[in-house]
Amino acid sequence: MYRIVIIGAGEAGTRAAFAAREAGFSGAITLVGAEPHLPYERPPLSKPLDGAVRMKAICTAEALAAAGIDYLQGVSASRLDTGHRFVILSDGRTLAYGRLLLATGARPRRLACPGADHTLDFRTYADAAAIFSRIGAGGRVVIIGGGLIGMELAAVLRGKGTIVSIVEAASKPLGRAVPPRFAAKLHVRHQKEGVHFHLGQGIGEITPDAVVLDDGSSVSAGMIISAIGVLPEIALAQAAGLATGNGILTDAFLRTSDPHIFAAGDCAAVLQPAGGHMRFESWRNARSQAETAARNMTGGNETFSALPWFWSDQYDLGLQVAGVPRTHHQSVVRRFEESELEFYLDEGRLVATAGLGPGIGVAKDIKLAEMLIAVGVSPDPSALADPAVNLKTLIKSARAA
Ligand code: FAD
Ligand code: NAP
Repeated sequence: MYRIVIIGAGEAGTRAAFAAREAGFSGAITLVGAEPHLPYERPPLSKPLDGAVRMKAICTAEALAAAGIDYLQGVSASRLDTGHRFVILSDGRTLAYGRLLLATGARPRRLACPGADHTLDFRTYADAAAIFSRIGAGGRVVIIGGGLIGMELAAVLRGKGTIVSIVEAASKPLGRAVPPRFAAKLHVRHQKEGVHFHLGQGIGEITPDAVVLDDGSSVSAGMIISAIGVLPEIALAQAAGLATGNGILTDAFLRTSDPHIFAAGDCAAVLQPAGGHMRFESWRNARSQAETAARNMTGGNETFSALPWFWSDQYDLGLQVAGVPRTHHQSVVRRFEESELEFYLDEGRLVATAGLGPGIGVAKDIKLAEMLIAVGVSPDPSALADPAVNLKTLIKSARAA
């Protein structure tokens, strides 16, 4: 029986280790993780309820042991020898593998301006702990980047009475993954909560206590956080000669250009049915790709086809997005008293949906909409817009048809 080696003990790597066991694999499994902790979830880092950072473990040491997963904590993979199929570790050990999973995730993009070293990243538990330990009421924080991290952090920091400014290169925040309708609503909410926005602004220079913008103005800060997106962690794969682009390139089975090596999660750019490779940076994507990769590493032959989905919590509002809304899609809005759903149709066919409302209020409808998307329906837009029409009835009639 061959050994499975998994590099990266984040969401994807850890889930893959357990999923390989659930698939009946009885050989050795080694999980190599560079961080000095048990595997943990990243989403809670930017959503601490009381402003105190939480470490939410993905699993216990006992669960790893019970599943026979050998977890090498605080150890990095330094090099791959794909010819002889072994991994060289930072502590000098080598590990032979029969199948290898690269689940190396992503790392923060760095600013290139003078003084960039004065900014703090926000990716790991250590980053979050360092930031939250220094934050308090009346302090001033500048966040560079009005993406998901920037906006989630701003909400938490306002809750602690911190004065928050967001500097964003684009003309609007949340321009990347959030549909414009909901990005605009969240922007307005942040303004009402007192977040100061500097939009369409490049950074000229960063000093220890200020961010100097391209227009010469300066925003003072006790702390400066950089949240300008991530880059896939592909260095190991590149050095080993695997095919890479905006991520480690895989086929639809999550197999890289080396048939013994798979990739999953934030680092993987997966071949799409319509051609081209797509990389997603979300929690559920990491989990579901890990499960498919684990089954394929242990004898399965499944293509990865899960619908992309992510959520974001800002103040009391919960956003959920399923599928990939595009500007050319027809949009249909369903309004409720406190929340809204938006459906996206491509030539009449429902392909994506998003919702925003208090707490997890939109979750049930998003789940039903995901089912409608999976069935492949072309619903009547007026039925989608009508809050009196239960989405369940649309699923039933689609199934009956
Ligand atoms: P990662 O979680 O990045 O894990 C990769 C691991 O591999 C890391 O621990 C890294 O140290 C390790 N590694 C890398 N190279 C090596 C090596 N050579 N040797 C050994 N180990 C190595 N998504 C959502 O859908 N909803 C959310 O609300 C949400 N909130 C988020 C909040 C924050 C603050 C962050 C940072 C992310 C959030 N995400 C959210 C995104 C989600 O957490 C990621 O998509 C997910 O963690 C990706 O999992 P991964 O295993 O692919 O990568
Ligand atoms: P992000 O969502 O990609 O947003 C980065 C933002 O920074 C973008 O709006 C980007 O604008 C802007 N930007 C880029 N360069 C800039 C510059 N020089 N000056 C000012 N603004 C600049 O990335 P993130 O917020 O850093 O999050 C990092 C990762 O964590 C992502 O993978 C994200 O998906 C994940 N995450 C997810 C969630 C969630 O799903 N709820 C929550 C937190 C984090 P342009 O788009 O114009 O470049």
